[in-house]
Amino acid sequence: MSCCASSAVSPQGKVIYAGTFDPFTRGHEDIVHRSARLFDRVIVAIAASEHKGPLFSLDERVAMGKMLFSGITNVEVIGFSNLLMDFAKAQGASAILRGLRAASDFEYEFQLAGMNRQLCPEMETVFLTPADQYMFISASMVREIARFGGDVSRFVDTRVAEQLRQRFAQKR
Ligand code: ADP
Repeated sequence: MSCCASSAVSPQGKVIYAGTFDPFTRGHEDIVHRSARLFDRVIVAIAASEHKGPLFSLDERVAMGKMLFSGITNVEVIGFSNLLMDFAKAQGASAILRGLRAASDFEYEFQLAGMNRQLCPEMETVFLTPADQYMFISASMVREIARFGGDVSRFVDTRVAEQLRQRFAQKR
């Protein structure tokens, strides 16, 4: 039996862009915009990632994603805390989307795609690269800069920058 409910849909069907998004950066946003032009439906799937001790709760990250992508009709933002392949199957997705930055992402992403293929051979992993100016943005570095009161407005939406400022002000 096919492991993917959506195996009959076209490759352009439903894609799952999965990540922690703690917080969303302009790089993540760039990938969402590109994927929304390529796929019929994009699910931005926000992993609870409790083991990473995220700065923003799952509910806060989901609200952040909804705020950022409310204007794109074929993008939906959903939180999840189970195995990504199980979540993707339950959503009827045909592919997992990941973003690729500089070469440093490659080894991890290649391994992840391979493991996911073992779990669900019919679920493809597709990669998109962001525009050059977003290639070096990482959510963890954004958190570090914001922690010390630095200006992150080039790296994240202004509303996200404000949420970071407030979060670290609470912690001081
Ligand atoms: P994870 O914890 O799963 O790595 P992240 O939230 O850090 O989740 O990233 C989600 C996805 O977005 C990953 O595929 C990651 O490689 C990609 N990504 C992260 N930052 C960028 C960026 N600046 N440009 C493009 N893709 C990115």
